[in-house]
Amino acid sequence: MVSPLDDVARPPEEVRPPGAALLPEDSPHRALEEIQLPLDALEERAARCGLGGIPTKVRARERLSAADGLAMYQSPDIALLGLLADEERARRHGDVAFYNVNIHINYTNWCNKFCEFCAFQRRPGDDGAYCMSPEQIEAELAAADPAATEVHMVAGVWPALKYDYFLDILRAAKRARPDIHVKAFTMVEIDQIVKTAGKPLAEVMQELRQAGLDSMPGGGAEVFSERVRQELYPKKMSAERWIELARDIHQLGFRTNATMLYGMTETLEERVDHLERLRALQDQTGGFQAYIPLAFHPDNTGIDHLPFPSPPERLRAIAIGRLFLDNFDHIKAYWVMLGLPVAQMGLNYGANDLDGTVTQEKIYHDAGAGTPQQLHLDHLQQLIREAGRVPTERDTLYQVVAR
Ligand code: SF4
Repeated sequence: MVSPLDDVARPPEEVRPPGAALLPEDSPHRALEEIQLPLDALEERAARCGLGGIPTKVRARERLSAADGLAMYQSPDIALLGLLADEERARRHGDVAFYNVNIHINYTNWCNKFCEFCAFQRRPGDDGAYCMSPEQIEAELAAADPAATEVHMVAGVWPALKYDYFLDILRAAKRARPDIHVKAFTMVEIDQIVKTAGKPLAEVMQELRQAGLDSMPGGGAEVFSERVRQELYPKKMSAERWIELARDIHQLGFRTNATMLYGMTETLEERVDHLERLRALQDQTGGFQAYIPLAFHPDNTGIDHLPFPSPPERLRAIAIGRLFLDNFDHIKAYWVMLGLPVAQMGLNYGANDLDGTVTQEKIYHDAGAGTPQQLHLDHLQQLIREAGRVPTERDTLYQVVAR
């Protein structure tokens, strides 16, 4: 039987069929007009699969409604969604697809939130439980790829960790690599850090900034459904608190990303509601850089009877993100969770970013991600070129890195 994880479990060498030609680096770029199909042909096809009117709205840059969002989740024509999302991607980004050179540090797996979907969490003393000291983080970063421009630090939530610990790990990261951009702490972690500090959010964020925090990854939103939260992660913050924190943090001048963890027990309507709330917040603050749809990995979790979302569903999630979130510049195909082939295909379904080289990712690998723990730079660039895009290195804030 073919496992749904087969496509992510292959070694990276098998992603490219033997003998397949790469696009030459100087291949001509395609202008937007070259990939656009006639609108009446698109509408005719859309009308046959429940997507009527959406091509016209996309081309006119008219905002899609919740009903459109639901139709996109229900339509059998994922390829049409891909065509529309690819056109919108090309309009914004031409042939450029971004990657970065980054390092992941999951500084502790101690956690008291007990989310059912999580395979990473441990309690101190459990097999495999760990909490890195500032010195360990400093040593790991000092030994890491000198070309890295970003360290991504997220972890579990353990209230006994002192406020100073978080300041110290940020200082340790900057001591090891003064030049590196520190992107750290999901909203869930920040919520706990603020409680532990016992100070106002603005003061805490200022102190974290002085210690080395540059931006935040924005995870921890899961799916904004109180029903699903009560069922699977009741100890985690509510959607309202996540949104309030993100709004305040954006207004304090920090950029973050936004995510949705899909493929658990949420309904399609709840997915659309999640996207609507992200879009509304982005209208207010403009503080989100990228949207990253995260496919739920079931292995070693409390809900391992659920399937890993199929490749078409993973591509659909990317395309809907591009089409529905009209105020997000960047849609990321996060290869660690999607698997390399789907992430690569995602660059033709609306994504303009593959994420980075990533060293030592633990959270999704504990949940069964069969992807490598690191991609070499030339491999990442090759994946992008094979997808027909021009690999372009970015920093965390999407500035092009010239080496
Ligand atoms: S998802 Fe995060 S908050 Fe939830 S149990 Fe896992 S580490 Fe803890």
